[in-house]
Amino acid sequence: MPNDENGDTCFFCKKGKFVTRTEEIAFHQWTDKGYVFCRIPVSIGVCDRCGSRNWNDETEALIDDAVRKEYDKFR
Ligand SMILES: [Zn+2]
Repeated sequence: MPNDENGDTCFFCKKGKFVTRTEEIAFHQWTDKGYVFCRIPVSIGVCDRCGSRNWNDETEALIDDAVRKEYDKFR
């Protein structure tokens, strides 16, 4: 196993490395009460070469959580 300090080799360009950094992402998601719009800071891996994002389960969980909180405001 290679010993990478900053995580995995990019699986898109296979040359860069994913560097974890915090980015604010904005997104919206359709729910049965309408569109929910969220803007949250998440820590994601970004390739230092091609800029691809390594979207992981943790990121997904943060987004789900944010959507749920916004969704609750409709009640
Ligand atoms: Zn890359």
